[in-house]
Amino acid sequence: MSTLGAALAQAHALGLDRLDAQLLLGHLLARPRGWLIAHDGDPLAAEIEARYAALCARRAAGEPLAYLVGEREFHGLTLQVGPAVLVPRPDTETLVDWALEILAGPLAGHAAPRVIDLGTGSGAIALAVKRACPRCLVTATDRSGAALDQARANAARLGLAADFRAGDWWQAVDGQVFDLVLSNPPYIAAGDPHLAALVHEPLQALTPGGDGLDAIRRIVAGAAPHLPPGGWLLLEHGWDQADAVQAQLQAAGYSAVQTRRDLAGQARCTGGQRPAAVR
Ligand code: GLN
Repeated sequence: MSTLGAALAQAHALGLDRLDAQLLLGHLLARPRGWLIAHDGDPLAAEIEARYAALCARRAAGEPLAYLVGEREFHGLTLQVGPAVLVPRPDTETLVDWALEILAGPLAGHAAPRVIDLGTGSGAIALAVKRACPRCLVTATDRSGAALDQARANAARLGLAADFRAGDWWQAVDGQVFDLVLSNPPYIAAGDPHLAALVHEPLQALTPGGDGLDAIRRIVAGAAPHLPPGGWLLLEHGWDQADAVQAQLQAAGYSAVQTRRDLAGQARCTGGQRPAAVR
């Protein structure tokens, strides 16, 4: 029979980093990391050891830790995530923070601002906004039924209300208007070498094909009937796409167009406001 410490050392030898090794073992034993460290010499049951070895092999083959443990922390929420949805990234917290600034600033006087998260996946953006700003009326869409099921389950578990709609971008909310539109759409270009490292996540959540900007083009092109004058549109995008997204928003007549950087310093989100007179 092995010990916890020996199992962790074996995972490290497989190439797993120490934190991942601890999180996987902690997940199987339903114990926090601190407990594992204090119980280094405890015996590990053969059955757990076998399950641990299987999880470590999957992690070593590139499967995201979030899928293996079934959850990921995002903007202070613990979200359940499985292979039907993109793993929420810390980069996307930049978009949520910007949305919350607008809700606390220009939209502060609005008693019940209507917010939409287009292509919600796990529900990360929609639910983080709803938690931090309960007066918002939040809508979240996805064209994937499996993603919407995951997002709905997260909302129910966290006790956060949102209106979930199935459909491709704006088709999901025909005739509805919003004060703040948010999206982290697929934006990786078809031939981008990064895709090779992301094979475990849903391809349709990562790339729209082509130059990577098709989904953003569709969202911008279809936004006008859904955004009243003064409404805001904020989009996450790739590190080298800020100029292209700014140009699209400017061409569509948005004002106050600006880009925000993520914690790694990459230009990550671009947005603007619909002026009173629109074209
Ligand atoms: N930020 C993700 C990545 O580069 C991509 C997410 C997306 O396409 N929306 O891994």
